[in-house]
Formats: sequence, C-alpha cells, structure tokens
Amino acid sequence: MRILNPIPANDPSQLSWWQLDIAPARADMRPPLSGEVSFDVAIVGGGFTGLWTAITLKQRAPRLRIAIIEAFRCGDGASSRNGGNVHGYWGALPTLVPLFGPDKAVEAAELGTLAQKRLRDFARAPGRDVWWVEEGYLRVATSETQMAKRDAFLKLARDLGVPDSVRALDRRELAEMCGSLRFLGGLFFKEGATVHPARLADALRREALDLGVEIFENTPVQKIEKGPTVRIRCSTGSVVARDVVLANYTGTMGLSSVAAATTLFSSFPVMSAPNEVALERMNYKVARGLADLRMFTHYFRRTRDGRILMGSGSGPIALGAAHEAPELRIDARSCARAESGLKRFFPGMAEAGIAARWGWPIEVASDRLPFFGTVSGTRIHFGSGYSGHGVNATCIAGECLASLVLNEKDRWYNSPFCQRERVRFPPEPLRYIGGTMIRNAIVKCEDAEDAGQPQPLLARGIAEIPRVMGMRIGMR
Ligand SMILES: Cc1cc2nc3c(=O)[nH]c(=O)nc-3n(C[C@H](O)[C@H](O)[C@H](O)COP(=O)(O)OP(=O)(O)OC[C@H]3O[C@@H](n4cnc5c(N)ncnc54)[C@H](O)[C@@H]3O)c2cc1C
Repeated sequence: MRILNPIPANDPSQLSWWQLDIAPARADMRPPLSGEVSFDVAIVGGGFTGLWTAITLKQRAPRLRIAIIEAFRCGDGASSRNGGNVHGYWGALPTLVPLFGPDKAVEAAELGTLAQKRLRDFARAPGRDVWWVEEGYLRVATSETQMAKRDAFLKLARDLGVPDSVRALDRRELAEMCGSLRFLGGLFFKEGATVHPARLADALRREALDLGVEIFENTPVQKIEKGPTVRIRCSTGSVVARDVVLANYTGTMGLSSVAAATTLFSSFPVMSAPNEVALERMNYKVARGLADLRMFTHYFRRTRDGRILMGSGSGPIALGAAHEAPELRIDARSCARAESGLKRFFPGMAEAGIAARWGWPIEVASDRLPFFGTVSGTRIHFGSGYSGHGVNATCIAGECLASLVLNEKDRWYNSPFCQRERVRFPPEPLRYIGGTMIRNAIVKCEDAEDAGQPQPLLARGIAEIPRVMGMRIGMR
C-alpha cells in the first residue's frame, strides 16, 4: 500500500517559534526501530492524532501493546506549528446544519465539547505547563459582509435552541477585550482556549510513554503490506500488527478515498516579538484566540509572554497529493500576508519586530470536517480532513480511532465524524487549477470588502462556483 514520504520536519531554518521555544526538550529522542517486532496496534505518525489515539486506546484497553512509529520526533509536524487556538464545533454550525440537519449538527458540536473537556483536564493536570488559557474564542467582523455573516450565525444558534453557545459583541465590548480599530463587531464563543502547541505535543508524548506506549522516532515508514496481520516496513526494521492507524496527517492523501474528498492548502503564521506595552494599550490582556470571519481567515492569539501570533490561511495549494511541495512551507508572499495582517490589526506589535515565520500544509476536506474510517477489507484505520482546525479535533480523533480499532459501536463510531459520505473533488489537474482560481477570487473579494470597495465582478462569479457544486470548501 502506498505511503507518502513524510514532509521534511527537521530543517532548522523552518521550525516554528513554538519548537524553538522547547529546544531543550526536543533534544530527547526515542531510539529508532530496529529488527522485527510485533504489536497489537501500530500507529504511523506521532502528532496529536497518533498520540491521542495511543493514549485513548491505553485508557480503554490497558493491556493492548501499542507502538507509535514517527519519522522525526513526535509533535514535529503540524502539531507543533499551529496557532494553538483550541475550540470545538459550535462555530461550525453553518457548515454542520446543511450537511447533517439540526439534531446531528448539535450532537457533533457536543462531541467537540467533550473533547474540549478532555483537553482541559489533560492540560491542567499537575506538573504540566502547556500555557492553557480558557477564556473563550472570538470571531470578529472587519467588513459589512462579515457583519451579515455574524448576524446570520446568531439567528441560526437561536433557531437551533443553542443561543448560549455564542453571544454577540458590539464594537465597544470588543474594544474592552482586544482593541483593534479594525473590528466592527464579533461573536464570543465561551468554548475556546489557547495553548502552547509544542508543549502540548511534548506532554502528550510523555503521557503516552508513561502509559507504556512504545515510541520509535527517526523511523520513516516506507511501505505497508496488507494481510491477516499488517506489516509496516521501515529501513531499519519492520512492525507486524493486527491493527494499524494512519495518523500521518497530509500523508493520508496517499489513500485514494481520502484524496478524492480532500485538498492540500497551506497556512503561514508569524510570531511577533513581545511587547506588553502595546498589548496593554490595546486592552489585549488575556491570551485569547481570535479569527476574522473571512473564508481564508486571519487567525491570531496572544501568548502569555506578550506576543501575538498572526496566521494567514491563504497559502498556495498543492497539485494532487504533493504534500512535500516546498511552496507549502516556504512562500514569501504568504508570510508577507500574515505580517501585513499583524500590522493592520495591531500596528504597535509589528513595530516590535517578528521573532519567527513559518508555513505548513493543511488538508482541507470538501465539507471542511475531519473524517475517520477504515480502509475497506483491512484493519487499517485513518484520520484526515481537520481543515486547519485540529487541536480539539485530534482529541475527537483519538476517541473515534480507538472505537474503530476496538470495534466499539459507541457514540464516536456512530457520529458523523466516522459515518458520512463526502463530496468528491474533480480530478487533477482540474482540482488544482479550479482550486487556485477560486482561492484567488475569494481572496480578492475579501480584500475588497475589507477595504470598503465593491467586489471585482469576475472574481465574485468565480467565488460562487463551490456553492453551485455543493461543496462547503471555498464557500464564503
Ligand atoms: C500553520 C497552521 C496553523 C494551524 N492553526 C491551528 C489552530 O490555531 N487551531 C487548530 O485547532 N488547528 C490548527 N491547525 C491544524 C492542526 O495543527 C492540525 O490539524 C493537527 O496538528 C494535525 O495533527 P496530526 O497529528 O494529524 O498531524 P501532525 O502533527 O503533522 O502529525 C503527523 C505525524 O506523522 C509523521 N509522519 C508522516 N509520514 C510519516 C511516515 N511515512 N512515517 C512515519 N511518520 C510519518 C509526521 O512526521 C508527523 O509527526 C493549524 C495547522 C497549521 C499547519
């Protein structure tokens, strides 16, 4: 079975600020795989997905022998390179309701709440310092179109009977929480936190080891052979296992069923230097996460040591499953976009300088929701499609993938995260060409809205295509 090469995660010039911040911890590595070994469950990839799955399996079935096989060090992929905004699915109701109907939509959001509680309990346990700050999550409107989105959202929450999940914020209230002059109004979700993602990954790694999970690092998987048991081949040895979990993030694009309904985008954050004085001036006192209400969002958060991370989700798209493509990690235009977002929203912060810039791919599902499943006729399970929203969702992944491995037909197994049909994308190169055109058109329309100008007519027409095709991705 095809397994994609891992994305090179060890180039020192491409590390995230979070990884640089935990440099001493990252020096501690587990030895690579050597010879032939056998386990009940082998997990390919030691990011949040692989680690939560191993931990959940150990908690549900302590006697299971579990191995994680990681190409670099656990956490070195997307899990240590994200914005660290942690929220479930209450903010995704406009996506969930048309797909599943009101009851299942609310049920999916409630599963996100369970995951959030699990994350909170983990993060707050004694001896862990993962910078967990749980003060809600804001979506802010920076144009009249985004204000209309905000109002439609509030109506939907009322109609669904969950008005308590969200509250409207006017300009004045926003200014008291985070005083950017750009914000016209917003939404406050009480379910929301920020975390230091690299510290969280490291704490999960330690927990997995403490629970008796075997971890092989510096061990890229090269090949997977199906059979009554599954054999995982690496250059230094092989693992035989009854169940295999593919937790290799964008690497799951090697599975045709995943690739048919998923596409690769990229996201680029910048981390400012600390500037407590500027933050104080803007009333940005709490390390709360925010994102604007664009389709290609600016997402941001402050850190407890007085910085702002600003990310832009409008980086280049990949052709097919080319998750290793360098432009998904190195793209001066996307970094500049994130930096100009920082300047626009928080002028004082940009003056303090930029401490780090980086980029990484994100795998976006056609309905923008994660999916967990089993490759037909095998005991090989996979998780994919976090769509740039994976800190909470990978905790859901741990539950769903554990249920698939243990064949437990529980609420996770029966949830839309494991049981749904996904709209397929057109084949390549149409997907790449169409996706790039649509992305560019949407960015143009959203830039025009932010500048208070009319949307360019052609771009507006192109931006409507996903809606006509029944996709949630690329819909505004
Ligand atoms: C720039 C950016 C910003 C983001 N911001 C947010 C945010 O603010 N909030 C949020 O909720 N989500 C965010 N996300 C999404 C989130 O980071 C991901 O959804 C999540 O980390 C996915 O975890 P994972 O374990 O599936 O992937 P990863 O952490 O990438 O783990 C996969 C692991 O598999 C390993 N691997 C791959 N191939 C092989 C192989 N062949 N053999 C062995 N090992 C292999 C990799 O080395 C890697 O360690 C962001 C993502 C990016 C890129």
